[in-house]
Amino acid sequence: MPEASAAVFDLAVVGSGGGAFAAAIRATNLGKRVVMVERATIGGTCVNTGCVPSKALLAAADARQTATDAARFPGISASVRPVDMHALITGKRELVGALRAEKYVDLIGEYGWELRQGNAAFTGTPEDPSLEITAPDGSTTTVRATHYIIATGSAPWAPPIDGLQETDYLTSTTAMELDEVPESLLVLGAGYVALEQAQLFSRLGSKVTILARTRLASREEPEASRTLAGVFADEGIRVIRRATLSSIGTDPVSGQVVADTLSSGAREEIRAAKLLVATGRQPVTDGLNLTAVGVKTGDRGEIMVNDMLTSTNPRIWAAGDVTGHPEFVYVAAYHGSLMVENAFNDANRSVDYRHLPRVTFTTPAVAAVGMTDEQAREAGIACDCRVLPLDYVPRALVNRDTRGFIKIVADSRTGRILGITAVARDAGDLAAAGVYILEAGMTVNQVANMWSPYLTMAEGIKIACQSFSTDVSRLSCCAS
Ligand SMILES: Cc1cc2nc3c(=O)[nH]c(=O)nc-3n(C[C@H](O)[C@H](O)[C@H](O)COP(=O)(O)OP(=O)(O)OC[C@H]3O[C@@H](n4cnc5c(N)ncnc54)[C@H](O)[C@@H]3O)c2cc1C
Repeated sequence: MPEASAAVFDLAVVGSGGGAFAAAIRATNLGKRVVMVERATIGGTCVNTGCVPSKALLAAADARQTATDAARFPGISASVRPVDMHALITGKRELVGALRAEKYVDLIGEYGWELRQGNAAFTGTPEDPSLEITAPDGSTTTVRATHYIIATGSAPWAPPIDGLQETDYLTSTTAMELDEVPESLLVLGAGYVALEQAQLFSRLGSKVTILARTRLASREEPEASRTLAGVFADEGIRVIRRATLSSIGTDPVSGQVVADTLSSGAREEIRAAKLLVATGRQPVTDGLNLTAVGVKTGDRGEIMVNDMLTSTNPRIWAAGDVTGHPEFVYVAAYHGSLMVENAFNDANRSVDYRHLPRVTFTTPAVAAVGMTDEQAREAGIACDCRVLPLDYVPRALVNRDTRGFIKIVADSRTGRILGITAVARDAGDLAAAGVYILEAGMTVNQVANMWSPYLTMAEGIKIACQSFSTDVSRLSCCAS
């Protein structure tokens, strides 16, 4: 039973990442008394080990690649020297530290909620839940709240492969702390974290091999996988598709990782200085004592929530990666504020992922919003699709980099746009524009006749829409 003297709050938040902060900010803005419990570094994955460090390092690697590739512009040449990884990682840590302070730590005082450092676990009963917090010095306190939100995130997951647990492998977290660029790197996985890390290390100087179970970015359009495979091949990254790994170990003499692989019926032994396992993440729910308070979890340990984000206990909610929903920080933040609206304002709002943008920050990036061609067909929609190669986009031409395309999936009856996929430099910005197009329910015709600034990559969306009715190879510059 919780102590009679347990502190009482309107909202108790477990975790301090994007989901937790959004909930705490929205609740304090409503005048609610909030307590947040964090057992590790304030800010969670995005700022400390996810979005921020990965994009900071990718931007650095892109700068190096721009120099390497400068000769594509006549009259321009540049050369690169080996990377000082220690300096690069130190700079990344400083940036992360500054953003963590400004965007997380300092905000707690500004908004005025209470932070308790320690491990949280539920205690009590489904009708009368409370949280027991074990501080780093071993002391425990109890808090009670009207509502609880579990925003405990996810952690890297490794598949059960013979020898893997005995092998010293990297995750995205430890890879971004290396002091030296590995001479060679074997990457397991082909989702967005794997692809970004593979290109990052390749551009920093590693010889990278990717082992993909199916194809690269397999949830996106097949054209995206093919384009990215071509780009990676050009950059010297080897991609082994439809590969399975039967065993992995370490050569005691060279210290190299030795992987026994099978692809298209052929066995191959692959050696690399380092192994990076980026095969996905799993929700963190261990040790929360959820059964005591009637909160059910699914097969992967994710908290089962309804579309208003309530768990199987109506006073306990969940947000972000721990729900098993799409793993993006903007999803976590959306969950956090939606939960507060539902709990305290009876908003009855549901999550809706129909127009959720998805970005892989490689260069070119892979970005998409809405349905793929295949998803539209599976939904029984007669769809009309156009793939516009970047050779038709003036921005790509002046960049002298036409690797990529823009694909539009439209309903053939109404012309309404159902999905947009782009592989292009900064394609994430196109996906953001795509969200507005899809939200507004715009048709191909409407977008084809709208303003669009000349020499932006986003102009490609308009040109792709024009390609439904016009031969775009015969357009003049900025012709509308
Ligand atoms: C390499 C990488 C790159 C990424 N890049 C992007 C990107 O570019 N864009 C994007 O949108 N997303 C990106 N993501 C995903 C994004 O980081 C996550 O989706 C998001 O941070 C999840 O937020 P969250 O609030 O669910 O959990 P988290 O931020 O993971 O926070 C969970 C917190 O809960 C704490 N905790 C756990 N259990 C307990 C407990 N029992 N008691 C107390 N505290 C506890 C943890 O210590 C942690 O701090 C990336 C992820 C990775 C790994």
